[in-house]
Amino acid sequence: MVTNRTFTMLKPDSLEKGNTGAILEKINASGFKIVAMKQTQMSRRDAETFYAIHKDRPFFADLVTYMTRGPIVAAILEKENAVEDFRTLIGATNPEDAAEGTIRKMFAKSISENAVHGSDSDENAFIEGSFHFSGREIF
Ligand code: GDP
Repeated sequence: MVTNRTFTMLKPDSLEKGNTGAILEKINASGFKIVAMKQTQMSRRDAETFYAIHKDRPFFADLVTYMTRGPIVAAILEKENAVEDFRTLIGATNPEDAAEGTIRKMFAKSISENAVHGSDSDENAFIEGSFHFSGREIF
């Protein structure tokens, strides 16, 4: 099933570097409509829950520390074929492998601090969006 929504987070490094506006502009210019958005900070428990799928990976502790060290911007985005098109827009997990013009190529430092999150399936987009937003925050 293909839906028209995906979920993103601008990760702490993006906010620390003052890249929030530039990244949101690129998202808008690429045809995504923001249907929910907020600046927030994840607790350790939030990050451990959100990234539970990676709990046995060697980088899990570093990932939780990174994602909780400062505020993030969480958003739900709408566009036809949103999940796939947004993954294309952000580029590969490792910015060294990301295509020119992608958000990670432009704004990410490394595989661990890679600027943005994008859901990898429609099912996860729904789960992740629901983790951060209640129904009355989505328009
Ligand atoms: P994504 O879907 O492209 O975000 O990639 P994954 O779901 O595989 O990984 C989730 C997040 O964990 C990534 O966005 C990175 O922030 C982090 N991560 C992934 N692989 C590594 C790694 O090899 N080392 C470290 N330190 N972090 C990683």
